Amino acid sequence: MNVIIGAGISGLSAGQELRSDFLILEKSSALGGLAGQYRAGGFAFDHGGHYFHFQDKPEIQRHVEMFHAFRRYRRNSKVFLQGRFIPYSLQYHLAGLPARQRNPILAEVLAGPGGPAGGPAQDLERFLLAHFGPSLVRLFFAPYLEKFYGRPLAAMIAGMDKGSIPVPRKEDVVAGALCRRPCAEGYNPVFYYPSGSLQAFIDDYGRPLAARIRCREEVVAIEPARKLVVTNGGSYRYDSLISTMPLNRLLGIMTPPQPFPRKQFHHLSTLVVNAVLARRRRRFHWLYLPETQFPFYRVGYYPAAGTVAVYLEKTIAADSPLDARQVRREAVFTLKRTGMIAGAEEILFHDLKRIPVSYVVFDRGWPRLVPAALAHLRRQSIHSIGRYGSWNYTSMADDIRLARETAGRLNKA
Ligand SMILES: Cc1cc2nc3c(=O)[nH]c(=O)nc-3n(C[C@H](O)[C@H](O)[C@H](O)COP(=O)(O)OP(=O)(O)OC[C@H]3O[C@@H](n4cnc5c(N)ncnc54)[C@H](O)[C@@H]3O)c2cc1C
Repeated sequence: MNVIIGAGISGLSAGQELRSDFLILEKSSALGGLAGQYRAGGFAFDHGGHYFHFQDKPEIQRHVEMFHAFRRYRRNSKVFLQGRFIPYSLQYHLAGLPARQRNPILAEVLAGPGGPAGGPAQDLERFLLAHFGPSLVRLFFAPYLEKFYGRPLAAMIAGMDKGSIPVPRKEDVVAGALCRRPCAEGYNPVFYYPSGSLQAFIDDYGRPLAARIRCREEVVAIEPARKLVVTNGGSYRYDSLISTMPLNRLLGIMTPPQPFPRKQFHHLSTLVVNAVLARRRRRFHWLYLPETQFPFYRVGYYPAAGTVAVYLEKTIAADSPLDARQVRREAVFTLKRTGMIAGAEEILFHDLKRIPVSYVVFDRGWPRLVPAALAHLRRQSIHSIGRYGSWNYTSMADDIRLARETAGRLNKA
């Protein structure tokens, strides 16, 4: 029998593909993990993931659409800078900046190498300076990314973000600097959301697997030599183990201890303020907030039947105490300054959610550590997958693909 740890999008996708006998062990009472929803105050809120990115993965789109219909959205994301809403990604839309800022940026970008970034991994600061020049790095990339990562850019490596920092062709930069309308498409121009809700999709996706899922069963120990997982409710023998729990935690519950110290796996923790607003005053999906006056790095709307659902995200220290009143003040300030509310009374309800492991940090240790740890686990018949299992930067569509590929390989073994 195979055992899958976690009934998030990765665990469910692996289960959809596995042909042999298997069991999914899920510590919480609900399916979906960060691709699911939770309820508070009578409202449903997305946990983490919102929109699906299918454009280079038509086979994944066809697969999930067998379970649930999806709606297509033309991306409308903005950067909020000096009181202006400028289309995202900024490097494609320099026309939104005043000439005194636009012209030096344009000159520096044109002097850079241009085109898709390639070559060996270099530090993120040098990568950004080489491709975008110091003016755009100072104006946007450094304040935004340092707020997000909470550490200097020179401490991280470039090229691990799966295209979220696209390097446009020079002609696209020039076109975007000349016209105010979004004439250069940028990256990731469309995305998808389940036509019911995220949870409706997860419920449809998980339904055929219901008999094989054990909720409220947390894996607390793994003994690879005996091919045994121990949970709070029992223990199970496995032939192969697919784990979607965070890699650092997986290594921490293995006996004997593995030669990869947990503290070397660096990650971010995120505080999400989920809120329901009285009305929708802005039309964008995501709004990026590089300025330090905002403690949040990103805010956004997502589709919700009958309500206006928004979220605000900020990076926090993993175990920091939360001052809920202060966070509410920050949320009111941010929503007001960006014109998403006229006053605090337009926030009908809000809820704070901590995501302890939300984004992996690609520091200099990552290339040495992570591939070696994953290979070491595979040699013990443990396949650590998903965004946190593979300790990578992936979307839900990437996670589905990796899970299906992993299960497909096990089917052939
Ligand atoms: C703030 C934020 C915004 C995001 N926005 C997007 C977006 O718009 N689009 C997009 O594509 N992606 C987005 N993502 C990423 C997306 O949420 C993830 O890629 C995806 O949900 C990961 O799924 P997973 O199944 O690999 O992991 P998880 O969702 O973490 O699932 C793992 C499951 O394992 C269970 N588990 C953990 N430990 C144990 C244990 N010991 N025993 C048993 N069960 C256990 C957990 O309860 C969970 O259900 C976002 C992520 C964050 C944090």
